[in-house]
Amino acid sequence: MNEIYLDYNASAPCDPRVVEAVAKAMTDGFGNASSAHRFGRRQAAAVSEAREQVANLVGGQSGGVIFTAGATEANNLALGGFAAPGVGAESQSRVMPTLVASAVEHASVGRTAEALAAAGGCNLQIAPVTPGGLVDLEAMAGIVQAVEGKLLVSVMAANSETGVLNPIAEIADVVHEADGLFHCDATQMVGRLPFDMSALGCDLVSLSGHKICGPTGVGALVGTREAVASTRSTVWGGGHERGLRSGSLNVAGIVGLGVAAEIAADEQAAEAARVGILRDRLVTALKGELADVVQSGDVERRLPNTANLRFCGTDADAVLVNMDPVAASAGSACSTGAIEPSPVLTAMGLSREAAFESVRFSLGRFTTESEIAAAAERVVTAVRYVRRMTTEAA
Ligand code: PMP
Repeated sequence: MNEIYLDYNASAPCDPRVVEAVAKAMTDGFGNASSAHRFGRRQAAAVSEAREQVANLVGGQSGGVIFTAGATEANNLALGGFAAPGVGAESQSRVMPTLVASAVEHASVGRTAEALAAAGGCNLQIAPVTPGGLVDLEAMAGIVQAVEGKLLVSVMAANSETGVLNPIAEIADVVHEADGLFHCDATQMVGRLPFDMSALGCDLVSLSGHKICGPTGVGALVGTREAVASTRSTVWGGGHERGLRSGSLNVAGIVGLGVAAEIAADEQAAEAARVGILRDRLVTALKGELADVVQSGDVERRLPNTANLRFCGTDADAVLVNMDPVAASAGSACSTGAIEPSPVLTAMGLSREAAFESVRFSLGRFTTESEIAAAAERVVTAVRYVRRMTTEAA
């Protein structure tokens, strides 16, 4: 059986058009993008074009694009640039700044927020989610309205494990009524569904190349003029990227990110429709063949490419091993190795056992109809086998 990759939310394959652009950038171009000579100016021009392409994908201003080494670093910059002790807003005010994050953020937001609070940079408040996995808007409003002093709220656009879409515009309104800044980790939504930061009211947005069929290790924080101006540096050096991300620019990676962004902007609507049909077909096939398959997360508002399925009575890792060469994941790939259940699913109210039974399937640009048919068969066999073994062992 051929390998079938259904783990796009962990990392999507790089589009051949992007590979070509990166190879060309590495072959034709060299020199430091900060250098004044013609070699440097050519590199800088390539970076400028990518800035436009990235800004266009998220409805931002090219001047607000800060290139980083991915969404982890973008999230660290957004939060640390607000609340790192000594560089954060607290140095200008006697009231400690407050950071509010949802209970289901990626570790690069959640753990960063905890570390900043532990270091004395901010108060941290966690907003709960509903059983469907969305941020509880009323609870969020209650938390935000009670905050005194500077405020940054960080909520992801789409959850990596369930695909559930948050009410971003509504959250932005609540935050702005309280005079706060709103950071949105849009890593999983950008390129999969239209995302317009100015229409939604986001002040800062994080994204990552490899989630949009671009290169890994390159991403961006995109901010409004005011948000960029109020963000402090957390990396010091030559003062690149408006002083917020020192270090010679990864021109080839940035070019790749730009081309990936342009392709996504052109193709995301058609791709979402196609992939959504395939995702639904996979779920229907599995539910048709297997008893006790439960979807987690609000199925009415989620990414078209994602399904989080609980195969009751199985261990997800055992299912994953037995469905090889079909690749999906249990919990977030970024916390692989942890024996704790997915904190996203438990924050939604699933028991530890239910969380350990859950497998995330995520499809994308290169997933085909025939792959979905073959994958469904393979997963059915694996689940049946694991259930049989579990019953026999009991
Ligand atoms: N945020 C979200 C929502 C993610 O899904 C991921 C990747 N799993 C990240 C941030 C981090 O992205 P990167 O690994 O590219 O830094």
